[in-house]
Amino acid sequence: MTSNSVTDEIAAALRESMSPRDRLASWTFRWSLSSGQLVCAQCQASLSANQPEANFIHRPGCRARREDQPWRELESLLGAVAMRQPLRR
Ligand SMILES: [Zn+2]
Repeated sequence: MTSNSVTDEIAAALRESMSPRDRLASWTFRWSLSSGQLVCAQCQASLSANQPEANFIHRPGCRARREDQPWRELESLLGAVAMRQPLRR
């Protein structure tokens, strides 16, 4: 087992233990949205917002390369946050 996979496992365990709001905050550190593009904070690769089902292609060597469904992750996080904290009207 390489140190990289240990790091990945710790990161995954931490992510599972966080609340939906913390996970959403974590997402915003890993991704940015700009001019219709979703951009990886690590490698700056981007994916158009109108291709939400496409796999995200990171640049070679990117540490976030295993996360290839960022739109789906954002969708589920927003759903989890919305269910726990209904919008006040
Ligand atoms: Zn990347």
